[in-house]
Amino acid sequence: VPELPEVETVRRQLAKEIIGEEIVGIEVRQEKCFAGKRNVVKEEIVGVNRVGKYLFVEFVSGRGLAIHLKMTGRLVIDNKWYETAGHTRVVVRLASGRSLYYWDTRMFGYVRVVERIGEEIERVKNKLGSEPWKIGEGEFLAKLQKTSRKVKDVLLDQSLLAGVGNIYANDSLHVAGISPLRPARSLRVSEVGKMLVAIREVMERGLKAGGASDNSYLDAYGKKGRYQDEFVVYGKTRGQCPSCGRELKYLKVSGRGTWYCDYCQT
Ligand SMILES: [Zn+2]
Repeated sequence: VPELPEVETVRRQLAKEIIGEEIVGIEVRQEKCFAGKRNVVKEEIVGVNRVGKYLFVEFVSGRGLAIHLKMTGRLVIDNKWYETAGHTRVVVRLASGRSLYYWDTRMFGYVRVVERIGEEIERVKNKLGSEPWKIGEGEFLAKLQKTSRKVKDVLLDQSLLAGVGNIYANDSLHVAGISPLRPARSLRVSEVGKMLVAIREVMERGLKAGGASDNSYLDAYGKKGRYQDEFVVYGKTRGQCPSCGRELKYLKVSGRGTWYCDYCQT
C-alpha cells in the first residue's frame, strides 16, 4: 500500500515530467476508477501536489485531477508496457506524445476530474491530520492523550496524522522503542517526542529509498523502490530483533500485521 514516501516519490517524479504539458486526450478503460467530466483536452498542467496520500494535478484553468492510489494503484509516465496492460484503467494523453497511465489491479483507487482543485486540496487538508513534518510535539501529545486506543492504531488514523501506513508505523515504533500495544494516552512527553523523531526518520529513509516495493507499488517510471530491503521489523515474521537479536513477536492489531520486540519496545 503506497504510503507518504511512495506517494511523494511519485509526486516528485511527475512534477519533473508533466508540468508544462498539455492534455490532448483521456481514455477511460474502467469506469470504476474514474469520476468527473472528461472534457480535459487543452488543459495545461501547472502543478503536481500532494496532501497525505492524495495526489493533485493542477491545471492553469483552476481545474485538475485528484488521484488516490489506494492499495494497488500505480501512476506511470511514458512506459509502453502499460499501453496494453490489462490493469491499465485510465490513460491521459499528453501533447509531447507521452501518456500518463493509471494502473490498478484491485481498483480501489481512482482518477477524478475536479472543477475547483484549490478548494479540493483545502477540503482534503481539513479532513486529514497534520503530516509528520508539520505536527508539533505539543499537538501530537494532545491528540494521543485524548484516546485509549492502541498507539499503533492512532498512528494509522489519517484524521489524526496524515501519510503513515502500516510499514512506517511498525518500523517507527521499533525505532522509538515503544510497544504498538500501548494505550496512546499512557505515553509520556519524552516518549511522544522520541516517536515523532522516529516517524520522521523512518519516513525520510523511505523517501530516500524511493519507497517500498514489497507489494504492488512502483514509482512513476515503473521502477521499484528499495525501502523493502531496509525494513526494520515490518514483515519479519519469526525474524530477529535488529537491536537485541530476540525473536520478533507477530500479531494483528485492528486487523493489521504488527511486528515488534517485546524486550526493546515497552
Ligand atoms: Zn529487541
